[in-house]
Amino acid sequence: MRSNGSVERYTAVEIGDRDGWICGLCQDPVEQAYQHPDPRSPSIDHVRTIAAGGADTRGNVRLTHWGCNHERNASTPLEAVEEAEAQRAVLLRIPALQAFAESLKAEDMVRRSQAFHSPERYRAKLARRVERYEREGR
Ligand SMILES: [Zn+2]
Repeated sequence: MRSNGSVERYTAVEIGDRDGWICGLCQDPVEQAYQHPDPRSPSIDHVRTIAAGGADTRGNVRLTHWGCNHERNASTPLEAVEEAEAQRAVLLRIPALQAFAESLKAEDMVRRSQAFHSPERYRAKLARRVERYEREGR
């Protein structure tokens, strides 16, 4: 079923095969044998989120661990100072956040965002989720 050419039919297996069964966030292998809600189970992540106007198409999705996908929490890494400035401009317009926004430096925002989205951090967070899942089953 297509809608405005922005929706495609695809399967997790198809995307997994395309992506070599490597998680797009932590860069570790994803095994098909794990089932949701195991944090290691395969999951499809929208690179540009649907909420941010991303399309539900093969070109905008990647394979991830379910836990890594959940950890990403719909945020997208800032790649450039211009992106950080744009985000800061939005915060400056919110009275309650104005002082906070004025204290931000775009370069620091980019650096922190890149650190937040680093494979190492996702890997560490996934390990903690798996530990909890195996202990508590959730
Ligand atoms: Zn992962």
